[in-house]
Amino acid sequence: MRTRFLSKPGCTRLANAALARTVGQLHMLADAWLPASCALCSLPPSIKMRFEAGICDSCVERLAGAAAQRCPVCAIRLPAGLATGTPCARCDRSPPAFEHTVVLADYAPPLDRLIHAMKFGSDLAAARALGKLLAIRVQANADAKPQLLVAVPLAPARLATRGYNQSEAIARALARSLGIPLVRNGLLRIRETAAQSSLALAGRSANLHDAFSAATRFDDRVVGLVDDVMTSGATLQAIACILKQAGARRVINLVAARTP
Ligand SMILES: [Zn+2]
Ligand SMILES: [Zn+2]
Repeated sequence: MRTRFLSKPGCTRLANAALARTVGQLHMLADAWLPASCALCSLPPSIKMRFEAGICDSCVERLAGAAAQRCPVCAIRLPAGLATGTPCARCDRSPPAFEHTVVLADYAPPLDRLIHAMKFGSDLAAARALGKLLAIRVQANADAKPQLLVAVPLAPARLATRGYNQSEAIARALARSLGIPLVRNGLLRIRETAAQSSLALAGRSANLHDAFSAATRFDDRVVGLVDDVMTSGATLQAIACILKQAGARRVINLVAARTP
């Protein structure tokens, strides 16, 4: 009976329209829940995709230095063979103001491309992907349990030019994934500084002197300090000092990429 009913030309058109509607609805659902493609290799979504971050597992596994042994304090790569948890000679000799650093991987292809797209191409989906991948890394790390997050602030002039703070965009996704608050405007950049990359190592600390201040107290809190790229660590060191002066108990840097 049903076959006969559908076999009539008009009914077949109706059935096809209903089927097309259902397929369309399924596509809309898939678009809402699944990323269009991997943000790094552009492969379409598959069972291997880390749906929540929009980056496939094979790309995550291939990120340079993702599995490298690092100093737990500053995340610089360590020579293989050292006991896990051993700090680098520099942190051992003179511990910085922060206690711990979690990084996703080295600042190298293809992660650098993603960070560049986020920073200069207004690609906020890239910031969300980085935040979610960092959350996976933080959740797997027993030493990194921040109670709240702050992002490295941009100077007002740079914020006006770019329109958003890329570190805060990462921090927003990270806070949502970890279920902890992001304290927006908790830190102020009170002085524009020369780009750190243009300065020799010795000049970087001097360049940052008095560049930041805390706009609130962080009494007895474990603060996660979010940045996109860590180079010498001078910016994070300067801000960690400010956070400690504002009462923070521990400062944990949460960084997307570190220069090797
Ligand atoms: Zn991929
Ligand atoms: Zn170190």
